[in-house]
Amino acid sequence: MAKCAMRKMRRKGLASMAVQTVATAKNVDLGPASALSCRECGERFELGPIFACELCFGPLEIAYDLPVGDPEGLRKRIEAGPANIWRYAPLLPVPEDVAGKPNLNPGWTKLVQADNLARELGVEPGKLFVKDDSGNPTHSFKDRVVAQALEAARAFGFTTLSCSSTGNLAGAVGAAAARAGFRSCVFIPHDLEQGKVVMAAVYGGDLVGIEGTYDDVNRFCSELIGDPLGEGWGFVNVNLRPYYAEGSKTLAYEICEQLGWRLPDQLVIPIASGSQLTKIDKGLQELIKLGLVEDKPYKIFGAQAEGCSPVSAAFKAGHDVVRPQKPNTIAKSLAIGNPADGPYVLDIARRTGGAVEDVDDAQVVDAIKLLARTEGIFAETAGGVTVGVTKKLIEAGALDPSLTMVVLNTGDGLKTLDAVAPTTGPTATIRPSLDAFRDAGLA
Ligand SMILES: *Cc1c(COP(=O)(O)O)cnc(C)c1O
Repeated sequence: MAKCAMRKMRRKGLASMAVQTVATAKNVDLGPASALSCRECGERFELGPIFACELCFGPLEIAYDLPVGDPEGLRKRIEAGPANIWRYAPLLPVPEDVAGKPNLNPGWTKLVQADNLARELGVEPGKLFVKDDSGNPTHSFKDRVVAQALEAARAFGFTTLSCSSTGNLAGAVGAAAARAGFRSCVFIPHDLEQGKVVMAAVYGGDLVGIEGTYDDVNRFCSELIGDPLGEGWGFVNVNLRPYYAEGSKTLAYEICEQLGWRLPDQLVIPIASGSQLTKIDKGLQELIKLGLVEDKPYKIFGAQAEGCSPVSAAFKAGHDVVRPQKPNTIAKSLAIGNPADGPYVLDIARRTGGAVEDVDDAQVVDAIKLLARTEGIFAETAGGVTVGVTKKLIEAGALDPSLTMVVLNTGDGLKTLDAVAPTTGPTATIRPSLDAFRDAGLA
């Protein structure tokens, strides 16, 4: 972790907040999860609602007793499991009977072989795939991460679910809480798209708009956790973050299983906090270790919007720390100016031989329309960022058009209609007569 970030956390007393717990780890059943381990210094802690290392303030992540040694048995068990993320329960921080508990059962979304898009982008037929996570219950990939945090919240005895959100997370938390019988109170920047605001409110929990950017919302939530006002609250992406983050591994598992238990050669992944990208890498590494896929190199590429591109800027400048930015982009779900996992994303992009790239808002809109026109998939702005960056990286020769390529669409275009509405509409508006239609020249 960057020194300045550590200093900031110390000043805010976050480290002491991090050790506040509502349940002991004694009778916590989170399946194969065995401990929390610090990503910086490796120190291990008992499972609990903590997220920062007591020694070095580094972020904590889940350590496991993974079922090594019988890849055939494990593969059969997974394949016989439900058509949702719980088929991978043996690799997740959840109890074994998780599939029977009330939750939204997200995942097992389509991996679309995108030959029309491939043709437009100059990629070999059969090599380009879109992993379409708009098919999740609340129409974004966030249902995956919330499902893990919900199990942790149950295990630790929280009764209120909360989060700081760029939009999609608020909806996913609201829906999961409604289904599981939790109270929810979620926080968003006050100026989000109507689709995101309505989705976050409709499930009946409390929704609070904060006058500020996502980074202000996140800072506010960190303060709330340390205050008696927030006692007993499980913030899915703050004090439950280590559990939450593991949900993104299911994207890696599904992609490989859907490719016939093979690693893709290249992945293009959008970056907000960077959590998803780092955990997809973790998931791929686990599949290799477990012997479920053949070990071979793969490259991970990160995608940002130019108006919020702190990780891309650091990548291009050769830096290993990320300088915060003030976001200004239509890709609001990715508008995190100070991404927590930024440095880890840089490590992964460099280690795997990938890159981090960005596109401007006009390119985002063009890419949304390109994907819709070629594959019938209507992506939200984040998907436009990823497809736009894919196009740019192919043109630059960074993505190899003769190798398999998986591009993530993480959200649904219906939530960001404003992005395309000004340039998308009826071809013609006519009187209901054949003459009028003939005159319009469309027959
Ligand atoms: C939250 C989000 C992401 C990425 O989130 P990370 O913080 O990087 O894990 C990507 N796409 C959409 C649509 C999102 O809502």
